Amino acid sequence: MSQTTPTLREISCADDYDPNSMPVDQARGLIARFLSPVVGVERAGVRDALGRILAEDVISPVDVPAHDNSAMDGYAVRHAELGAEEATLRIAGTAYAGKPYAGPIGAGECIRIMTGGVVPASMDTIVMQEHTRAVGEHVTIGPGHRKGQNLRRAGEDLARGGVALPRGKLMTPADIGLIASLGIAEVSVHRKLRVAFFSTGDELVSIGSTLAEGQIYDSNRYTLFGMLNRLGVDFIDMGVVRDDPGLLEKAFVDAAEIADVIITSGGVSVGEADFIKDLLNQLGEVLFWKIAMKPGRPLAYGKIGKAHFFGLPGNPVSVMVTFYQFVRDALYVLMGRDPVPSLPVLKVECTSSLKKAPGRTEFQRGILACDASGRWSVRVTGEQGSGILRSMSEANCFIILPTDQGNVVPGTLVDVQVMEGAV
Ligand code: AMP
Ligand code: MG
Repeated sequence: MSQTTPTLREISCADDYDPNSMPVDQARGLIARFLSPVVGVERAGVRDALGRILAEDVISPVDVPAHDNSAMDGYAVRHAELGAEEATLRIAGTAYAGKPYAGPIGAGECIRIMTGGVVPASMDTIVMQEHTRAVGEHVTIGPGHRKGQNLRRAGEDLARGGVALPRGKLMTPADIGLIASLGIAEVSVHRKLRVAFFSTGDELVSIGSTLAEGQIYDSNRYTLFGMLNRLGVDFIDMGVVRDDPGLLEKAFVDAAEIADVIITSGGVSVGEADFIKDLLNQLGEVLFWKIAMKPGRPLAYGKIGKAHFFGLPGNPVSVMVTFYQFVRDALYVLMGRDPVPSLPVLKVECTSSLKKAPGRTEFQRGILACDASGRWSVRVTGEQGSGILRSMSEANCFIILPTDQGNVVPGTLVDVQVMEGAV
């Protein structure tokens, strides 16, 4: 961490710092100041590299393509021999993809060539088959061909020694295909991030037990599992921890020893916060915020030992929204991803009327869909209560309503953040 990075305590003394009404962007910015990629590199084979983050540039050991080759089925010719009128050339032989023509090509001669076939050094232009007339050993070619046309140059995609993929890149299916195309069997990737998580709450019961009055099943551990799984981290599910200072202390101490990141749900809202606050400030340095957003107001961030700590709210929808808005991109930075793109935000017409009070950012759950004429629009998923997980299950996007926004009437353009495939 650079010398200019303040401590968490210094941050909490800044003039524009109001923990009771913290704008979403400010909280994101504050967290970002404490993030740097985990140290530790390992080698991964082509398939295992999928979803991992490159720790070093991948340098191309070869030119791509390796040879000048034809982009078309046709004839490889010397442009100077084509002339202003028709030209008739003798066909000296044929070059196939993977089977070059090695014989001589005399004056007034050309070769037949297939797509991907190596273009002999003495030929400079490819004429598409459709623009020729072949009779026996000869081919007649009309005028109007450009020198160098339909010819893919060696090294045109990627020169030998050039950067094929930059460090910090999240490896996609295209990327593992690309390294395979270079003949590379292994790359250096950042080690996996270790994330420990647990749910807090006396009312929580794990699936498999029956519920007594007032108890509920713990669902947050499963949504967290799902979201973390998609990011490709190593995770440690520590179960449910009762609202008991001794048990919570042990859970935090254990988690900080084994994990790079600790995520909890529940227990950071007003009322419960005080005893957790004291406990966490004994174990580390943690800031508690009321974010000016809906859902998901309470949020804690800090360090416990070397581990980053994210204390998410307890409500099932709030957990997902805060994970999505604060934790996801932070984890990518810790994983070594660079630059970390937030999910794209698009403007589309909203077909529902939305209730919204100015004063905080809302993340309503939306369904982005296309009508028969090909127009995309968004509608809200029914009830928006922060305990209604079905609103997340039905949604494929967030409708982001900025702080100053009031009610929305149908037909208004709204910001939509697509979550399909990301949560
Ligand atoms: P809390 O932030 O601990 O006050 O929790 C807020 C609300 O979320 C309460 O109604 C809790 O019962 C509920 N809640 C907390 N943790 C979970 C969980 N792991 N699964 C489902 N609901 C939860
Ligand atoms: Mg609780």
